[in-house]
Amino acid sequence: MRIVVLAGGIGGARFLLGARRLPAEVTAIVNTGDDVTLHGLHISPDLDSVMYTLGGAADPERGWGRAGETWAVGSELAAYGAEAPWFSLGDKDIATHLVRTRMLDAGYPLSAVTAALCARWEPGITILPMTDDRVETHAVVTDDEGRRAIHFQEWWVRYRGEIPTDRFVFTGAAEAAPGAGVVEAIAAADAIVIAPSNPVVSIAPILAVPGVRDAIVASRAPVVGVSPIIDGAPVRGMADKCLATLDTEVSAAAVAGLYGPSAEGGLLDGWLVDDSDARAAVEGLPILARPLWMTTPEETEAIIRDGLGLVGVRP
Ligand code: GDP
Ligand code: CA
Repeated sequence: MRIVVLAGGIGGARFLLGARRLPAEVTAIVNTGDDVTLHGLHISPDLDSVMYTLGGAADPERGWGRAGETWAVGSELAAYGAEAPWFSLGDKDIATHLVRTRMLDAGYPLSAVTAALCARWEPGITILPMTDDRVETHAVVTDDEGRRAIHFQEWWVRYRGEIPTDRFVFTGAAEAAPGAGVVEAIAAADAIVIAPSNPVVSIAPILAVPGVRDAIVASRAPVVGVSPIIDGAPVRGMADKCLATLDTEVSAAAVAGLYGPSAEGGLLDGWLVDDSDARAAVEGLPILARPLWMTTPEETEAIIRDGLGLVGVRP
């Protein structure tokens, strides 16, 4: 059995810890819209969150970066007043970015670089960047400096999302192609699962890469999604602020509405909501309510099994 998961960073990584327990070949298609170049280093926050988490190397409290991290290089950069002092860079993490940047500079695509990094971490699943091309999520904001577009990382890390925001744009997405293996994995899937990742800045950029959405719609595999919104609020992160830019209500049903039921040309054949949202309804979409807290990998596996069951797949 082959299962494809669309995933962002921290929520996606936690979800994949559960997916990895299934008797299935799991392929994660991961958002790269958060990627940013700082100090000449190519940083892929969501790919690294997934790789470190599944490799058992992530910091459990922070949720991102490496456990047992030290910060010597970052404080030295700050002492020079080097660019982007608001972005923390751990020493161990920097080694990952150095290897990635060197390989990219040598001409390897990001997919090959990711595979090379994963050879060390043995995540137990296949991790594919959504694209090998450069795509960056930018937030269109208005502040004292006027109306401008800033990188998603600056929006989130520097301003904590607390800045008037019109919308997000996925710069470069229209000219991008699906990453190596992405379309093939979707075509070969027995089931496609949308992780409870941020729908606006983690899943939407993946779907904005031309060819990805079409491949999902064309696939014979059923698609089931898991709500990142529980009882009208994101479990963690800024999905509420992101949904506001789309004039979308912060609810489990509204997120399902963004993906759309397959019966109406959308993606979903099934949608999981938390028990607290048991009354959520979307016309033409089978919905199952059950607890959606990813407390342990075992519990997350049970969530995914129920989701697969809803669309008639038994791993
Ligand atoms: P990021 O790229 O690091 O921001 O991570 P993701 O986009 O993959 O995941 C962030 C989303 O995960 C947030 O919108 C949260 O609401 C959601 N999330 C985090 N923990 C849980 C959980 O235990 N259950 C559910 N249903 N959603 C969660
Ligand atoms: Ca992210």
